[in-house]
Amino acid sequence: MINILDEKTISKIAAGEIIENPAAIVKELIENSIDAQATSITVEIKGTATEGISVRDNGTGIESEDIDKAFLRHATSKMAQFDDLNYLKSLGFRGEALASIASIATVELLTKTKDSVTGSRTLVQHGDIVAQNKIGVPVGTTFYITDIFEHTPVRKKFLKAESVELHRIVDMVKKIALGTPHCAFKLIKNSRILFQSSTSTSLKDHVYSILGNMVAQMNYIEKDFDHYSVKAFFSDNTLYRSQRTEQYLFINGRYIWNVELARLIEKAYRSSIPLDRYPCFVIYLTIDPKLIDINIHPQKNEVKFSNGPMLMQSIRDLAEVSLATTKTFISSHIPSQTASEPLVTIFDLYRDDPEGETTSQIQSEVHDTITPYSDRDDLLDSHDKLRSVPTAQSLKEDTTSMQTARTDLKRIDTDRSDMSKIPDLRKKPLQDARIVGALFGTYIIFEARDGVFFLMDQHAAHERVHYEKFLKQYNDCQVDSQLLLKPEIIGLSAEEMVAFDKLSATLNTVGFDVEVFSADSIIVRAVPLIAPVNFEDFLRHSLLTLTEASTSAYEISPYTIMKKACKAAIKANTTLSFAAIQGLKTSLLACEDPYTCPHGRPTVVRLDQRDLEKLFLRG
Ligand code: ADP
Ligand code: MG
Repeated sequence: MINILDEKTISKIAAGEIIENPAAIVKELIENSIDAQATSITVEIKGTATEGISVRDNGTGIESEDIDKAFLRHATSKMAQFDDLNYLKSLGFRGEALASIASIATVELLTKTKDSVTGSRTLVQHGDIVAQNKIGVPVGTTFYITDIFEHTPVRKKFLKAESVELHRIVDMVKKIALGTPHCAFKLIKNSRILFQSSTSTSLKDHVYSILGNMVAQMNYIEKDFDHYSVKAFFSDNTLYRSQRTEQYLFINGRYIWNVELARLIEKAYRSSIPLDRYPCFVIYLTIDPKLIDINIHPQKNEVKFSNGPMLMQSIRDLAEVSLATTKTFISSHIPSQTASEPLVTIFDLYRDDPEGETTSQIQSEVHDTITPYSDRDDLLDSHDKLRSVPTAQSLKEDTTSMQTARTDLKRIDTDRSDMSKIPDLRKKPLQDARIVGALFGTYIIFEARDGVFFLMDQHAAHERVHYEKFLKQYNDCQVDSQLLLKPEIIGLSAEEMVAFDKLSATLNTVGFDVEVFSADSIIVRAVPLIAPVNFEDFLRHSLLTLTEASTSAYEISPYTIMKKACKAAIKANTTLSFAAIQGLKTSLLACEDPYTCPHGRPTVVRLDQRDLEKLFLRG
C-alpha cells in the first residue's frame, strides 16, 4: 500500500537534511543572531547536547507580529524575491532553519526589539505555537531548544557519542567566531566556559585570540583584486598538521570548505613541509555576492565561483609569496608573540629596507662566496669517489649542472620575481656561522653569533642542493628526451585514448615522441630522460597527471626527481672534509629553499645556548 505522507512527516524528513545533529542547531541559531547584527552571542548547553541548548544574542530582536511567521517554512526576512539571491549578504536566506528546528525539538523563544515596550515569549511544540505571552526581557533574542530529536528516534540513533557531538559544537562555534571578528562569543556547558572570544580591533589579534600561539608561525598577507579582496594567514614551513584541521576559508564571513582550493594551496607547500603533512591557513575572502553561488548545499557551506580558477590561483599565489618570505630554519624556540605584537609581514620587511640596500649587499655577498657544489671534487672522500664510476651520462649531466649552477647565480639578480628579492635575513646567521665539527659523520655543527648554533643534516642538505639542480634542468626543459632503440606500440584503454587525444601535443613538448597508431594504441619513439627504463607505467601516469598547460616532464612525478636527488646525495655516516662542509653550506644557502629537504624534512635546525643551559641546569 502506498501512503501519502502528511505535511508534518514531510517536514521532519526535510529537517533532517539541515538539522543532522545538535551542532547544526547551534550553527543555524548563531547565524540568525549574526544576521540580526548581534555583537555578543552566548551558547549554553545544559545537560547533554540533546537535552538542552540555548543561544542568546543582543541583536535586533523579532517584531511581535513576525514571530508566528518566523516558524513557517520558507519564511525569511532576508530575501523578498528570487533575484535577491544574487545580492545576498546575510548568512541565512532559505527561511527553513527555525521551521526545521521546531519540527524536531521543543523551542522556546524570548525576544524584544528596541522599539517595543515589552518582550514576548513563544513556546513551539511539534512545529505548532502552543503558548505565547508578554514578558520583560532585554533587547535581543534567546532560543531555548529542548527534547532534541525526541520525536524522531531514528535521527537520534544516528547521533554519535556525546563527546563527539559536543566536540562538533565547540568546533562549530570556534569556526564561526573565527569568521566573525565583530562579535564576541561564549560557549558554556553546565556553567563551565568551553570557548570564548572577544571583539578585537585588529584581525590579527582576533585570529591570535582563537588559534593561539600557532599564529606566531603564520604570516599575514592581504591584497585587493578587481572584484574581491583577500586577507589571509598562511603557515610557514615549520607549522603543519597531519590532517586538514587548521584550514579555514571564510567567504563574506561564511565558513566554506573547498577541497580544490586546499589542494591548490598545498601544492605551493610541496617540498617545504613533509610529504604527508598539511599547511594551516585562515583566509578571509570578501567578494561581490553576484560572483558566487552559495545555494547548492542545504548546509550552505559550499560555493561555486563564476571565476573560480582565476580566483583560486590568485589565492594560491598569495600562499606562495607568503611562504617564500617566511620560510625559515626550524628552531627549538618558536618565537612567542603576544596578541598585540604585530606579526612580521612582507611589507614590514620592505619597510626595513627602503632603498633595497640590504638586498643588493646580500646578493653581492652571495656572488663573492659562492662556489657551486658540483665543482668541488674534494667533497666526497676517496672511498666514495671509487664507488661512483662516471658514466657517459653522468659526465654529461655534470657539465650541464655546472652550467645550470652558473646561470642560477645570474638569475638571482634578474629573473626572480619581486617578492623573492626581499633581503634574505633568514639565511644570514648560518652564512656567517663557523664550522665546529661533525657528530656521527652526519650532523655538522655550526656556531653563530648571539648564542645561536646550528645542526645540519648533511644528507638532507645535499639532497636539497641536488633537488633544486635537477628541478631547474627539467623545468628549463631543453626537452631532455631519450630515443628508444626501436619504437614501441602501447595499447591504451578507451579512457586513456581520450586523455591521449587531448594531451598528445603536451606529451611531445615534455620529451615524449608519440602518436596515434590505431584506434586503441599509440606508437612511442622517444621518452623523457627522467622516465624509467620500463616506461609504460610512467606514460600511463603522465596521461593522468599532465594537463594541457604542462611544460615539463617533472610534473608527471615530482617524486622521480626527489628520488634522484636522494640517490645522488652524500649519505649519513660519511666524514666530510672541512672544505667540503664549507662547500655544502654555501651551496645550500644558494638554494632558493634551503630550509627543508625535498621531502620537506628540515635540513638545518637552529638551536640556542639556552637549550644547553637548560640541560646543565644553569638557567
Ligand atoms: P533565514 O535565516 O533563512 O531567514 P530562519 O528560519 O533561520 O530563516 O529564520 C527565519 C526568520 O526569523 C529570519 O529571517 C529572521 O527574520 C527571524 N530570526 C530568526 N532568528 C533571529 C534572531 N536571533 N534575531 C532576529 N531575528 C531572527
Ligand atoms: Mg537562518
